[in-house]
Parts: sequence; structure tokens; C-alpha cells
Amino acid sequence: MDEHRRIFLATASRLSALSAAALSSASGNVLAQNRVAARESGNAYPFSLGVASGSPLPDAVIIWTRILHDPLNAAAMPAIAFSVRWEMAEDDNFRRIVAKGTASAAPELAHSVHVDVTGLQPDRWYWYRFMLGDAISPAGRTRTAPTAGSMPKQLKLAVASCQHWEFGTYAAHRHITAAAPDLVAFLGDYIYEWGPYQLQHPQSAVRSSESFTLADYRARYAQYKSDRDLQAAHHAAPWIVTWDDHEVANDYADDRDERLNPRFIERRAAAYQAFYEHMPLRALPANFAHMRIYQRYDWGRLARFHVLDDRQYRAHLACEPAQRGGSTSVLLRACPALRDKSRTMLGKEQEQWLAQGLSSSQARWNILAQQTLMAQNSQLPIIKEGDGRFWTDGWDGYPAARQHLMDTLHTSRASNPLVLSGDVHSFFASELTRNPARPRSASNPVVANEFCGTSITSPSRPQTRTEQYLRMNPAIKYGRSDKRGYMLLTITPTDTTAHFMALADVHNTASPITRAASFVIKPVSGLTIAHKLSS
Ligand code: FE
Ligand code: CA
Repeated sequence: MDEHRRIFLATASRLSALSAAALSSASGNVLAQNRVAARESGNAYPFSLGVASGSPLPDAVIIWTRILHDPLNAAAMPAIAFSVRWEMAEDDNFRRIVAKGTASAAPELAHSVHVDVTGLQPDRWYWYRFMLGDAISPAGRTRTAPTAGSMPKQLKLAVASCQHWEFGTYAAHRHITAAAPDLVAFLGDYIYEWGPYQLQHPQSAVRSSESFTLADYRARYAQYKSDRDLQAAHHAAPWIVTWDDHEVANDYADDRDERLNPRFIERRAAAYQAFYEHMPLRALPANFAHMRIYQRYDWGRLARFHVLDDRQYRAHLACEPAQRGGSTSVLLRACPALRDKSRTMLGKEQEQWLAQGLSSSQARWNILAQQTLMAQNSQLPIIKEGDGRFWTDGWDGYPAARQHLMDTLHTSRASNPLVLSGDVHSFFASELTRNPARPRSASNPVVANEFCGTSITSPSRPQTRTEQYLRMNPAIKYGRSDKRGYMLLTITPTDTTAHFMALADVHNTASPITRAASFVIKPVSGLTIAHKLSS
């Protein structure tokens, strides 16, 4: 049994114990216990979760760490703030320091540290590290974005999502590290709120090791971030991140979870806080319950990233199963809510922000980095209008909102829209037409392409089922659900190449990786996907 599996086994029971403790604890005693435990582990290495960086601008980048001696025992940390030193250098030996300072690691934020390092040069690589007492963190490599008016020759982008701990190793992150990308985009399900799947009805009380409290969510992040391959991918490049449902709860929509918990918004606030505490995000939100994470990032005039949040502001799911919330698959004709034009996916404010960001964009590529599959994916053949059966949790559950987005893309005249997605644990390459419910034609042109990345670990349906979907949904040019891995994109002024990188064996940390398929988009010849399958 390797290191990863041991951590899982230890943690499953510890997390259950944590939940139970959190439910019944009187916190006075906990504080006293913490102090004792902290003395006992006083000399332990404080950077057990590594470091990270992200949210890059031409002159600034966020660097992150969390002071934690034992990833599986946050309760042993003293309830005091630490003063952590940090350095940013032009070289990996830290001889040419360009910025340094101290930052507070406060117990109220799980001893996390976020430093907005400003005054940096554009389009440059840097190295950073933290120090506490005699301990020095691993060095992270990061970089700034190119300057606003410039046209960079290329951007190498790794895209990842869905890393359920119990379903495999993080071998894909080892390959992301080896690919040395300029930037990593993580599109959600960084953690899963529960442990090993237990096929209980969602109404039943608690799934195995499910997270409810702030302490639970923090413990999950610590467990995931204890993985050396995940740490290495953070040490290799800056990340831009969004979330999906499992950072909080399965299939949630705005203030509603699948159990219809009337106090779900409190659980969501705890989960959002833990997300902030563990991600290289720029600003400390005033209110975690309504934390805004949608953001824009420019890579000179080569690419503009519109990083979206399609969870926090969406309308409740359509045609929920009786007696509970959550997703289902429904016939279009049996679910009137799917035709309700008022049902939003992004919310009015974010829609307006996106429209403004698209119409003002000078970028060659406009990249929508978001969580869920946008291409229509009917589970039954569509013979005539009104046919089709759709899963309600993705964009197929919000067809009016998707139509509004396609209209916005079209009228904004933004160059080369490219949608990146996750969530469905499958590779998909698709053409998004002006009206995604109708086939491509002269009057229904392609307005964007979509690359959906498979999961780092999380499982999906058999490939035979995906082959059926491909036959029923001609706008989806390629689909592969039986492989885990990530996407590697090379974006240049003249084309974008996407490699779908597939692991041989997700259960083997040393697994090799190969290209399952590659695609090229050339803006000059229109928005078609040139499909070249490679072995
Ligand atoms: Fe997932
Ligand atoms: Ca998801």
C-alpha cells in the first residue's frame, strides 16, 4: 500500500470523528486541548501542504501557503497567529530577491497566507518561498501575465478538474508538472465533500465522511493538498481557479442543496471560506456567504480568460425528483421549466459583466473558463423539435440561459470564443452553434468551440454509452469517458491546439500518459474544429 492509500484510510475515520466532534463540541475545551497538542508538535515542519500561486496580472501574482504541521490533524494547531516571512526572487537560488515581507497566518483563516506581490515585471518567471522560524517552504515557480498591449507568441495552458481522492492517484498532476505550462486552469471539484461513495438515498442522514462544518471542509483540503503530485503542479505555475458543486455539496444551485436543508446557506458559507483559505485568490471577501469568484485575466492581446461561476447564482434545478432536490434526467416535453426563459445560469449581474468583458475584449481568443458541459448532449435521439432527454445539472438544464449566452457571444463580436469545461469526467470536443438546439447550417453558424476536459480521478460512464451520445449529438465531434487525465492547450495568435492527455492507469502514481486525441482551431478558416486523431 503506498503513501496515498495510507492517508486515505487514516482520514476516512478521522473525518467522521471530526464531524461528530464538531456537531457536539463545546469550544472552550477544544482551545485548551489545541494548546497542549501544539506544544507537543512544536518542531514539526509547518509547510506540509506546500505552496501555491495564482491570479496572475502583468505586475502582480498571489502567493499562498497554509501553516499546518500535520495535514490530518488541524486540531493540533495553536489558536494563535504566526508571522510568516516570504521572498520573491528572479532565480531559484533566491540570490536576486525582488520583493520580501512578512504576512500573518491567523487561526481565523486556518493559518492560511495570501500575499499579493505587486510591482513585478510583466511576462516574467519568478520563484517564491515562505519561512517560519528555521523552516523554509518548498520554492514555487510562478510568472506574471504579459503586458496589456503585447501579442505573446504562445501560451501553454493545462486544464484540470474533478480530483475525487478515493478514485485514484494524482498521476495526472505529475504530468502537468512535467509539461511545464505557463498557467493551470482548474475548473472545479478540487475537493469532493464526501469520502468513498455510498449509494444511499440523498435523504438519508450523512454520507460517509461528508463535510458540513468549516473544520470538515478544511480537513478535506488538507488531505487533498497533502498529495505530493498535486503540490508539485502548484509549485510549477500560477493557477486560475473556479469551483463546481463538490467544493460545497452535490448538485447544489444557489441556496438549495439536494436535501433541501433550510440552513444550507450557512454550510455554503463555510465551504466558500475553506475554498478561499486554500486557493491563490486575490481579495479577502467581506462576506464568505456571497463570495465572488468570477474574474477576468488577460494574457496580453493573445487571450482573455472570463472565469465564470455557474453555481452560486443559478436558478434552482428544473423538475427535481419528488421529495428532494438535485439533478435528474428529464424529457424536454415532460419538463416545462426547461422552457422557462427566466431561469438563469450566471445571474443577471454576472451576465452583464460577461457581456461587457466580451464586447470590450481586444484579445485574439476569448476563453470562457467554467465548470459544466455547454454543448447539448441529449440522451435520446432528436427526430423533431421538442424531442430529447437532458441531464438537468449542466447547461442542458438551462437552455434559455445558454441561448442568451450564445446570443451574447454573437453580438459582442468577441474574437474566437473558446469554452473550457469540466464536471462530466469525460473529454468532449464540440461546436457550439448560435442555436445549440438545432444542427449547424448556413443560418445556424458555429459561434464557439468547446473543449471539455476529463477528470483527474473521478469516474464516468462506459465508453459504449458515450458512443451512443456521439451518434445522437452531431455537434459533439469527439467524446471519451473511459480515460482520466487533463487537457494541454497551446494558444498562439494563429491557432489553438488541444491535446487530450489520457493516463494508462489512474491507480498508479507512476502511470504513463498519452494523447488520446488532438484538435486544432484556426481562426482564419472560421471556427471549425480540425480533428486529427493521434495514437
Ligand atoms: Fe466532478
Ligand atoms: Ca461537478
